Amino acid sequence: MVCPECHKPGMSDREINGMHPACFVKKMIHEEAQTATLRDQFAMAALRGIISNKYWDYDIERAVKLAYEIADAMLAARKQNGNEKEND
Ligand SMILES: [Zn+2]
Repeated sequence: MVCPECHKPGMSDREINGMHPACFVKKMIHEEAQTATLRDQFAMAALRGIISNKYWDYDIERAVKLAYEIADAMLAARKQNGNEKEND
């Protein structure tokens, strides 16, 4: 069996999801970093809209919280649409 991450053989009984343990960890970290970046980008875009609204009450904590709620909703919608791997 060949590891899908590094494309090298040598899988033992210690594999995780069909990958070398080190490759699995590397892949998870990479995916986590990408998700965080995208979430932050969505939140920044949302926050820009919130604070530029003339009805914004200057409650920064609430604006940031709302921005991340919007970002999470966007990530969930993105996942539902099957676009998870678009930016690989
Ligand atoms: Zn590997």
